[in-house]
Amino acid sequence: MEMNPLTHSGHGFEELTMRWKTIAQDLDLKETVISEEGGYEVFAFENQCAVPRCEAGGLYVSSGVHGDECAPPWSLLQWVETEPAILNSKPVVIFPCLNPHGFVENTRHDHSGMDLNRNFQDENVPLIGRWQDFLEDREFDLAVNLHEDYDALGIYLYEIVRTQSRGDQLLSACSEVIRRETAAMVDGSEFENGLLSHETKDADLKRVVDEDLEGGCPEAIWLAMHHATDTFTFESPSEMALETRVAAHQRFLEEVTAGLL
Ligand SMILES: [Zn+2]
Repeated sequence: MEMNPLTHSGHGFEELTMRWKTIAQDLDLKETVISEEGGYEVFAFENQCAVPRCEAGGLYVSSGVHGDECAPPWSLLQWVETEPAILNSKPVVIFPCLNPHGFVENTRHDHSGMDLNRNFQDENVPLIGRWQDFLEDREFDLAVNLHEDYDALGIYLYEIVRTQSRGDQLLSACSEVIRRETAAMVDGSEFENGLLSHETKDADLKRVVDEDLEGGCPEAIWLAMHHATDTFTFESPSEMALETRVAAHQRFLEEVTAGLL
């Protein structure tokens, strides 16, 4: 894969927003501002198939929940700038940067010091409440969350699937850009060659949230319980070169959405 040399700061929210507005106009994506808490706008973009909710299924994708993980928002933007075919065939909902304050400040938490990714069950958090309203009644074939990990040495993937596992194949494709994580324990969970696969029932997910996460629901689990058939959380090692990490996430988006076309 060809890697674009950097022309911007990794945390330049203004540049990110400007490019999103340009591509959204070119591709006729509808823009919604769901929050301005913390002094920055949190955008959602959706294609015309998604707007009238004429069709179920399709794709949900978000990035930037953790502001110190800056490759994913750029990769999501660059992927959309390639005008992927899925935008013409299936409903697509995109949250390009869910925590712009953290993105600008290079910090995991939002403006109030909260880790949003342990609060997706809490409609009293203004951003989360509006995010939940925006997604109400929507059902996707596929939900994708893009993250990074400063302890990791390779890429890894959490998958929550009701169809069949594709994680191994997806990681394998992306390992052409960054190698797979080989550690048996990653961020407190057991992985196998970079993959943690839940082929699971809703009850099991609820137990994970209640017992392992003390009630703090990550975005991926909320999506898996309420909105998506299959959910993937892809992680890259955030101490690697930004261009390489961006390329890895972009490759992941290409591979994971190829199955939907
Ligand atoms: Zn993260």
